[in-house]
Amino acid sequence: MRTFPLRIGTPDGLLFEGEAERVICRSITGDLAVLAGHCNFCTALGMGEAHVVMPDGTRRSAACIGGMLSMMNGTCRLLATTWEWKEDIDEARAQAAKKRAEEMLAKGGLSDKEYKIAEAKLQRALVRLNVK
Ligand code: ATP
Repeated sequence: MRTFPLRIGTPDGLLFEGEAERVICRSITGDLAVLAGHCNFCTALGMGEAHVVMPDGTRRSAACIGGMLSMMNGTCRLLATTWEWKEDIDEARAQAAKKRAEEMLAKGGLSDKEYKIAEAKLQRALVRLNVK
């Protein structure tokens, strides 16, 4: 399979730079797969599990929480709000975040803003816990 240059970064720094065979992630309009030869393209990312298939066929999974992905002249740049490789996800922390968010939502009496924050926290925790 053909490969293409991929850079993955977050506001904290560069997390990956190298060749990839495929990137699969969740955009705001649905799941997206980028392969070599993809036309120039730019999209906002949603929250979800992401995968990078390496040139040797191995697959790395990650939790991707928002950001932007572009494919320009054959190079893919993925700038995520947060990106955690599966092996870096702290499961206990995600469980604790899930519990806190569920408790807030169950308590009720939240303002619209508080409700949206708790919901987003719960969704982030679920994405982290579901990365396979
Ligand atoms: P928490 O309440 O545990 O901070 P959160 O969803 O509010 O969870 P974020 O604001 O999305 O956390 O992330 C803050 C920083 O912490 C980011 O750099 C993110 O990558 C990291 N992070 C958050 N949760 C985890 C986790 N379970 N495992 C590894 N890194 C995490």
